Amino acid sequence: MSLDLARLRAETPGCAHVLHLNAAGSALPSKRTLDATLDHLRLEAEIGGYEAAAKAHADLEGFYPAIARLIGAAPDEIAFVENATRAWDLAFYSLDFKPGDRILTCVSEYSSNYISYLQVARKTGAEIVVVPDDNHGQIDLGALERAIDKRTRLVSISHVPTQGGLVQPAEAIGRITKQAGVLYLLDACQSVGQLPVDVDRIGCDFLSMTGRKYLRGPRGTGFLYARQATTAHIEPIFLDNHAAKWTDDNAYTVRDDARRFENWERYFAGVIGLKVAADQANELGMEPIWARLRALADGLRRRLASVKGVTLTDLGELKGAIVTFAVAGADHVALRDRLRAQAINVTVSTQFSSRLDLKGRGLVNVMRASVHVYNTEEELDRFVAALERTIR
Ligand SMILES: *Cc1c(COP(=O)(O)O)cnc(C)c1O
Repeated sequence: MSLDLARLRAETPGCAHVLHLNAAGSALPSKRTLDATLDHLRLEAEIGGYEAAAKAHADLEGFYPAIARLIGAAPDEIAFVENATRAWDLAFYSLDFKPGDRILTCVSEYSSNYISYLQVARKTGAEIVVVPDDNHGQIDLGALERAIDKRTRLVSISHVPTQGGLVQPAEAIGRITKQAGVLYLLDACQSVGQLPVDVDRIGCDFLSMTGRKYLRGPRGTGFLYARQATTAHIEPIFLDNHAAKWTDDNAYTVRDDARRFENWERYFAGVIGLKVAADQANELGMEPIWARLRALADGLRRRLASVKGVTLTDLGELKGAIVTFAVAGADHVALRDRLRAQAINVTVSTQFSSRLDLKGRGLVNVMRASVHVYNTEEELDRFVAALERTIR
């Protein structure tokens, strides 16, 4: 099934205002997602927040099966969390690292995750091991296999990095971690909603995700997946009276599903908005979405390759919807600003989001243009023409 582009655009209010090539920052939501979020905020104002939650009970509960269906999980393996970083933190900081424990990660790892490795390594004496890339610029699977030893506590990888089209071989990594019996934490912040992600095929134990990027949900939303079979015994670093019950003066019991990672208080309108966004991705189907995003991104790379002074900087054997490039002699930040003044949204990825990768390649920063289903070939032509004009 192919996607109905005219309808997708008509149902995305932002398409009338901007040429948005920033899905990897925050994608344009559909009108249905926007309305569902606003309707709940309005209901809270009209009848009271608790009363609105009671009335919207079915939609709020519907969040869990909608997300579960999207990633091939069970509803009791999903927790709503306010963003991907915190979802990831909840998994990572709940692990009890000991001196000498090893954390294996990849060169393209996201900055916030790496900062957490550094903090935990400093506090606990755990060690960080960065597995080198292969000649495609993705994690070297042989090196990963060799790096796993008795002290390896966790393999923690970003599926798709923030700074490019790279798609890490998540399933092959999962086969290695499963064989070794090591926990596998997958930062899927840029992959869920962009490409088909199935937690059983991948074999990850935890997966973290944000709402606003490729899922086109509201800002301030996200989720954590925690595999029941392998993580049910892991007690969250934080507990409250939603995650646990105060059962005796000196005792509590923790919930036995993934909602033990949730807060009692959360962005209810956002839960509903993200549910609707996930419903839409499920309805459109992740295979057609992925096929369209790849076609758009490949088309953009092809166009950019013929622009004088432009060098494409995406790594990996299989390239996804995030297109990055460098413009010789240009100040990327100023270029981004001049494009934004023409209602064209792109961003700049810097070493502050992925130091090991960009620094290792001698790149201070890269321009990033990230497509979504509502983008058109005509928009890509218009973007590249504007870029050529603006560079000159
Ligand atoms: C954006 C991003 C994050 C952080 O997501 P937040 O929702 O802002 O916390 C984490 N990892 C990757 C790879 C990202 O691109």
